[in-house]
Amino acid sequence: MSSKIRMADRLKGTEKNVWVEFGKLSAEYKAINLGQGFPDYHPPQHVLDIFAKLVQGDNPLVHQYTRSYGHPHLVNVLAKLYGPIMGRQIDPMTEVTVSIGAFGILFSCMQGLVNPGDEVIIIEPFFDCYEPMVRVAGGKPVFVPLRPTKTEGEMTSHDWQLNTEEITKAFNKNTKAIILNNPNNPVGKVFRREELEVIAKLCIEHDVVCVADEVYEWMIYRGFEHIKIATLPGMWDRTITVGSAGKTFSATGWKLGWAVGPADLMQALMVLHQNSIYTCPTPIQEAVAAGLEYELSVFGDEEKCYLKSLALQELAPKRDMLAKVLSEVGMTPTVPEGGYFMLADISKLNVEIPDDGTDDPYDFKFIRWLTKNKKLSCIPPTAFYNKEHKHLGEKFIRFCFIKEDSTLEAAGKVLKEWKAELDSKSS
Ligand code: PMP
Ligand code: GLN
Repeated sequence: MSSKIRMADRLKGTEKNVWVEFGKLSAEYKAINLGQGFPDYHPPQHVLDIFAKLVQGDNPLVHQYTRSYGHPHLVNVLAKLYGPIMGRQIDPMTEVTVSIGAFGILFSCMQGLVNPGDEVIIIEPFFDCYEPMVRVAGGKPVFVPLRPTKTEGEMTSHDWQLNTEEITKAFNKNTKAIILNNPNNPVGKVFRREELEVIAKLCIEHDVVCVADEVYEWMIYRGFEHIKIATLPGMWDRTITVGSAGKTFSATGWKLGWAVGPADLMQALMVLHQNSIYTCPTPIQEAVAAGLEYELSVFGDEEKCYLKSLALQELAPKRDMLAKVLSEVGMTPTVPEGGYFMLADISKLNVEIPDDGTDDPYDFKFIRWLTKNKKLSCIPPTAFYNKEHKHLGEKFIRFCFIKEDSTLEAAGKVLKEWKAELDSKSS
């Protein structure tokens, strides 16, 4: 084979993908799927109604190309939505950009901002695409882990903390950006103001861009507050805040994401976007705009506003149901303050998993075994760590709980039966 008929060198090392492997495995074994993060039920009815109406409606232009950087209706609504939250007037034309999912925005950020050799700080565990995106842009990822501050008893996502000394050391004159995922996937951590202040201070001191991936911004459980790092003093000018329609409206297949930030940073994203994707699907943008307009008209109402009710009414009981089952079967859940994932420490299970012949970390082997033998699938958190730190995630597995109660009950049944089997063997 000619040496030219192959992929580019810069993609080397990025071939493996956890979603591809575990999505396929789950489907192959017809497992109960608590793996990849998506609901197994419909998005909210009002959003479906809006979508159906506009697709059947009499405006033919809804099916045609729209403005490259974001459909005018959508960027206007996003500016209205985020203006009061950010505490400033947002210019919809220069301070908002739309792309194909938050994925598209993150890719534009890295391609549009990072020069070869630039360092980008990534907090572990991190949404897995950050590392390849930085590398493919020619950047050098620098990893700082959140560390569990507890080893015994009940854990919440707040027990996962950044060490101030470690994060301070990661910043230097080559640091171009930091990616901050808040709420964090997979931990569910909602960063407190004091924690954000440490990061903000370092960003300002070292003149660093903050890419704030806030796709789970609306999924905040009672008693916790989501604070946008862009609202901290001195941070607007250096922060790109990332959102996702797929997460906001529980419609992950809609693949529409956005960024809000100062015009000069947005320009980097727009230039990249106009020469790669160019424009996003108009009907989806129009539906998201109309959906958000409705949310604005009932904003903050716990019953009517989906952005509120999703976590407080729909997800909170699911989170509690899953945490209870996991504790009952001898796992130690990290109860999240935000988002719809839950980590569980499996080290107390004391179960021998046959070696699968790979040199992958224990969590990968455990989940492959669980999927094949117990027909239950989830995600191995070491996929969210860099090589050097994978040992920190090995004793955890990640569950997604934005699922029908019946799906969560079926998963609970599998786990309880397995636990009974293990107990009877050991007695
Ligand atoms: N960031 C995080 C933290 C995520 O969990 C996801 C989920 N896919 C994304 C970004 C990408 O979102 P989207 O589906 O809108 O591309
Ligand atoms: N964000 C989702 C998760 O963490 C989906 C991941 C993906 O689509 N790559 O499960």
